[in-house]
Amino acid sequence: MLQDAFGRQFSYLRLSITDLCNYRCNYCLPDGMPCADYSSLSLDHIGHIAAAFAAMGIEKIRITGGEPSVRKDLPQIIRLLKETPGIKSVVMTTNGHKMSKYLDSWADAGLDALNISCDSLDPRVFDAITGRDELDKLLEAIKLAQISAIKTIKINTVLLKQYNLTDLHKLIDWVKDTDLTLRFIELMETGDNADYFASNHVSAETVQKLLVQTGWQQTIRDKAAGPAKEFKHADYQGKIGFIAPYSKDFCDSCNRLRVSSSGKLHLCLFGDSGYDLTPMLVPGKEIELQNYLSEVLQTKPISHFLQEHNTGSTAQLAMLGG
Ligand code: SAM
Repeated sequence: MLQDAFGRQFSYLRLSITDLCNYRCNYCLPDGMPCADYSSLSLDHIGHIAAAFAAMGIEKIRITGGEPSVRKDLPQIIRLLKETPGIKSVVMTTNGHKMSKYLDSWADAGLDALNISCDSLDPRVFDAITGRDELDKLLEAIKLAQISAIKTIKINTVLLKQYNLTDLHKLIDWVKDTDLTLRFIELMETGDNADYFASNHVSAETVQKLLVQTGWQQTIRDKAAGPAKEFKHADYQGKIGFIAPYSKDFCDSCNRLRVSSSGKLHLCLFGDSGYDLTPMLVPGKEIELQNYLSEVLQTKPISHFLQEHNTGSTAQLAMLGG
């Protein structure tokens, strides 16, 4: 089992397969990724990474990016991860832009769950955030995902003071008659978004308190489930979740490691730099790679120190996946 110096155990890997994205979210990549900086992991490297982490106790892999669906070989990647001995669950985060066309191929390849980003239910606000006037298309694709063979569908919504806070009730009403989990994510400061963060950050705890006042109750989750909190309400079919990275003790239940699209291990979303795994992603270096993972994991910091405006080397989340 992968365990760090603070006794935290790691069963979950977030794998960024590309840092390219076809959206221009104003808190992440408003101008796209500079051409010179693109990177994506080869199928071969993905296979070596999955095998090494699985041999050390990783059971769940989230495919992320950038936008994973910009890769034409995405179904092959899903299948490769799914067929890796020890990997029990392969899940993905997507903006849904290509979802209606490729959903069946992802399901056929064995994808277990999808987190779909949707930051507003107002078409104009959606466009202002993402640079895409395609909310209706996304909502149709989400309905298809709900009746697909993919077992779990969750929606990710970043809380943004100047964009979606006034329409929060609309988002919450969405789960009244539909069995979806809507997850509110607290906006995180990155190297590139300091001004945007200052004018848009909303504490997830404030929204959580509002929900509790209206009858939402926190559900009990296993500690191994990670730092997300979930709430249910007798009058609502769906659930509401919170990812509150600025809350006290958030990092205590950290159960995840990250590999970037350039093959670097990141022990924290906001670490100073990654550890290059690529020299060890070749046949014959499996044990060396596993020993290296155990060794560097001991340097994982106790916290991301986001509260102190530490953003490490993370310019935006497309580099690593959210
Ligand atoms: N392209 C995919 C998508 O849009 O879901 C996957 C990658 S994206 C980086 C993953 C998640 O991170 C999305 O839900 C996105 O909204 C979120 N995200 C990006 N930048 C963020 C930030 N600064 N703070 C909080 N969440 C962020």
